[in-house]
Amino acid sequence: MEARRHVALKESIRSIPDYPKPGIIFRDITTLLSDPRSFRRAVDSLVHPFAGGRIDQVAGIEARGFILGGAVAHQLSTGFVPIRKKGKLPHKTVSMAYALEYGTDEIEIHVDAVKAGDRVILVDDLIATGGTATAAVNLLRGMGAEIVAACFVIDLPEIGGAQRLRDLGVPVRTLMEFEGH
Ligand code: AMP
Repeated sequence: MEARRHVALKESIRSIPDYPKPGIIFRDITTLLSDPRSFRRAVDSLVHPFAGGRIDQVAGIEARGFILGGAVAHQLSTGFVPIRKKGKLPHKTVSMAYALEYGTDEIEIHVDAVKAGDRVILVDDLIATGGTATAAVNLLRGMGAEIVAACFVIDLPEIGGAQRLRDLGVPVRTLMEFEGH
């Protein structure tokens, strides 16, 4: 039953070849979000292992991680904290730079968004290289938070990001895999 459900969920993802550049297949979750059953199934499946346990905050990565992370936080009755691209958060922030294919990027979180000892779940739509999620883990751990898990709807296992996170001691939950980049 679980396997069949995830097939239906996978069919709700729209794949767009050569976007945003040649060779990349963009895995578009807007079609999952707009389908009521798929959206609920995705959120229920993401939270399933954590229901009943102590979680203090869900941290979502801009921008699609906000949509899923907000729903996950609501379902688990936790707080939600945004991790944003540099320069978007209004209060004092802590930031973390990370390498991209060309150049670097930086993510930020409010300095008081999590407390030392908080048990946090990290949420985003997709993990590819794991660069963004690794920076988010380092940011949260630097503030003293415990990363209970990192959750993604989609894994691109050939790129190795989920494994990279596991190597850092982060339990990773993903709902489906796609081949390639
Ligand atoms: P990475 O840091 O390489 O793991 O990239 C993860 C971030 O980039 C996530 O926030 C994704 O939304 C986005 N992303 C990377 N590759 C794709 C893809 N093929 N389709 C859709 N989003 C992607």
